[in-house]
Amino acid sequence: MARRKKIYEGKAKILYEGPEPGTLVQYFKDDATAFNAEKRATIDGKGVLNNRLSEFFMRGLTQIGVPNHFIKRLNMREQLIRQVEIIPLEVIVRNFAAGSLSTRLGMAEGTALPRPIVEFCYKDDKLGDPLVSEEHITAFGWAQQQDLDDMVALALRVNDFLSGVMMAVGIKLVDFKIEIGRVWDNDFQRLIVADEISPDSCRLWDIETGQKLDKDVFRRDLGSLSDAYTEVARRLGVLPSNVTHATKPTLIN
Ligand code: UDP
Repeated sequence: MARRKKIYEGKAKILYEGPEPGTLVQYFKDDATAFNAEKRATIDGKGVLNNRLSEFFMRGLTQIGVPNHFIKRLNMREQLIRQVEIIPLEVIVRNFAAGSLSTRLGMAEGTALPRPIVEFCYKDDKLGDPLVSEEHITAFGWAQQQDLDDMVALALRVNDFLSGVMMAVGIKLVDFKIEIGRVWDNDFQRLIVADEISPDSCRLWDIETGQKLDKDVFRRDLGSLSDAYTEVARRLGVLPSNVTHATKPTLIN
């Protein structure tokens, strides 16, 4: 049997050549990493949940007219996506202070921000994805000023959508990261949301209890990551019927 061509392997996903030009197959692994991959683990079923969750969010974005790379889910761990030229920036949107913003500015985690704050980090693991300004981005040619304006607009639309979807199931969207890619329609370049949207790249807190339901559970050793992601999926109604991390056999009638 012919082996399909691996295009790229990252920390949590693998990209394979797709069935048609301009498409890729995105495979979600069970691997979890934090602190620039200094901390690693395999979390049974994480890939299955993130495949479903990213599908759910990307489909929702398509329905409200926010362009993104998702085409269709292929199986438990794989989805067909549009191939994009990834802009080498992590676009972070924050509604409440947490993580590196709290550390950098000495602001208590959970402090409501006066408005959503958009930050850019340069994607480079060796450098630890440093925070960069628009000046750096345009001076070094990672994106043009027009791209930056489009990226901020896209990120804020994603923020409004995700905040609302999460609020409806009792979850506060504290912050999240997206990646954006370029696609060409004839001679015109457009920017679309790419990569993934999942609890790996968001901070999600239960509105009532403040319980963390995202990758901080792993980063900070707060309990079972798969339980946290399963809870998010359950609340959103996107739990796959046969979750793989069940600890005991289930009788099927
Ligand atoms: N984030 C991410 N990948 C990264 C860095 C950050 O998905 O490489 C997400 C992270 O999960 C959080 C948001 O971006 O939802 C803001 O992260 P922060 O800058 O606070 O970094 P951290 O505290 O995770 O180092």
